[in-house]
Amino acid sequence: MGRMVADCRDFPSETGCTLTITGTEMEVLQAAAEHAVSTHGHVDGPELRTQIRGMLKEEAPSSR
Ligand SMILES: [Zn+2]
Repeated sequence: MGRMVADCRDFPSETGCTLTITGTEMEVLQAAAEHAVSTHGHVDGPELRTQIRGMLKEEAPSSR
């Protein structure tokens, strides 16, 4: 099953955060939303989720 990647470096922030979150789309969306709220002071909601979904990338295929 393909995994998605959210790279915080793609997300506009002043903190220079380099966190990457990998997992299923649902997992990444949830974890990234929580991270954005706790670390970046965003407000969770449909808008944030849409923004996060827009920055998801498919994980680069590995050696399997
Ligand atoms: Zn971050």
